Amino acid sequence: METADGESALFTGATGSLRLLGIDPSEVDGDVVFVVPLRKTAHRLIRANSRHNTLLITERCDQLCVMCSQPPKKQHVDMFPFFAMAVLLAPENSTIGLSGGEPTLFKSELFEFLRKTMEQRGDIDFHILTNAQHFDRDDLAKLRDLDLNRILWGIPVYSSDSTFHDHVVGKPGAFDQVRNNLSVLCEAGAKIELRTVLMQPNAPGLLDLARFVTVALPFIDKWAIMQLENIGYGRKNWYSLFFDSSLGFDLVSKAVDFSVSRGINIKLYNFPLCTVPAEYRAFAPSTISDWKRAYVEDCVDCSLRNECGGFFEWHPKVHGYGRFGVA
Ligand code: SF4
Repeated sequence: METADGESALFTGATGSLRLLGIDPSEVDGDVVFVVPLRKTAHRLIRANSRHNTLLITERCDQLCVMCSQPPKKQHVDMFPFFAMAVLLAPENSTIGLSGGEPTLFKSELFEFLRKTMEQRGDIDFHILTNAQHFDRDDLAKLRDLDLNRILWGIPVYSSDSTFHDHVVGKPGAFDQVRNNLSVLCEAGAKIELRTVLMQPNAPGLLDLARFVTVALPFIDKWAIMQLENIGYGRKNWYSLFFDSSLGFDLVSKAVDFSVSRGINIKLYNFPLCTVPAEYRAFAPSTISDWKRAYVEDCVDCSLRNECGGFFEWHPKVHGYGRFGVA
């Protein structure tokens, strides 16, 4: 930063200057910003004060999930060269999330990007969200070329019923494909985080899904059951999808108990802690990044606040949980 006068801050780099208005300059000092002067746009790619940054690889996707938080778009701009530079400038020992859309629609570019950045930044890990529709056995060599201990592949499976899963993701045959490709990733030695967004339609089948996971996918690193985000299609379909797990926790607890009894590492993501019975709170880490996290009025005096991940800032203030707050 060159100058700051309380109203604006001037940043100067090798290729030009950037003046920021209406923001505390200390909040952005050291950030990696992608500026397009002709369009007069600036995108913050990396927050210097966060160990968890996410890069949106593409907005294209071959699925159309009923709860998608980032509904797909047709256009795609290849940002890999800029993202590679951003990763090199990221804070030490951080995790970079790669999301979409579907990042593996650009699989060769993705592999190359990972190979280069991982080579140059041995302290950085990746968390890649993918529908795992586009791997095949020909990818084994390229996968094994990467340090797979430093990549966690987040892969959604919504049901043990293939027809139901295909319906949720809007793609016939998706379940069979993801199942095959989970095997490919397993064979390569990849670390897998299975992800299941909890919704009214799939909550009753959670125990069946737990049985499926323990029998068919015992090699996964962890299974995350996730509360719904109120954004994108999740917001559009909120009333038909949001499952009040504070009142219907028995469906979740049965899946948790079964998984634990079979040695599956199960987690509950995005669950406000007070909506989870005390004996299950150890499964519910704080998972919402600090800059996306918000609390509601009732949280002010909560004794669990330090451990609780709260809500996404876009969650409605009328939060929808029938049982809420610490008694
Ligand atoms: S009252 Fe708020 S801070 Fe406390 S556990 Fe519930 S959501 Fe978290």
